[in-house]
Amino acid sequence: MAKRNVKQEKVNKKIASERIDELFLQADNIFKEDSSLSDRYVEIARKICMKLNLSMPRVYKRRYCSTCYKFLVPGVNCRIRLTQKKVVYHCNNCKNYMRIPYWKKKEKIVKK
Ligand SMILES: [Zn+2]
Repeated sequence: MAKRNVKQEKVNKKIASERIDELFLQADNIFKEDSSLSDRYVEIARKICMKLNLSMPRVYKRRYCSTCYKFLVPGVNCRIRLTQKKVVYHCNNCKNYMRIPYWKKKEKIVKK
């Protein structure tokens, strides 16, 4: 069995997070001209995460649909509403709802 190179893994993860930042930035910029290209950037970012066993940063998790993996831009192809202590994202492509509670996070801040 091959030995794990922890040092190299750390470097790889750093490179990966930089690439993910760049991909989402580009996806945001190119969306107006070619939305399919920004969907492709999301796909690449997800594949990088899967390969290195990383979880997608929380900021970017909300930028794409969890079912059809399309890049979401509020007001263009997605709708955001606040209901019952949840942020509800509605994808206009696949009509899927993503519900993210926001009351738990607030509690943690109070404890600190
Ligand atoms: Zn969707």
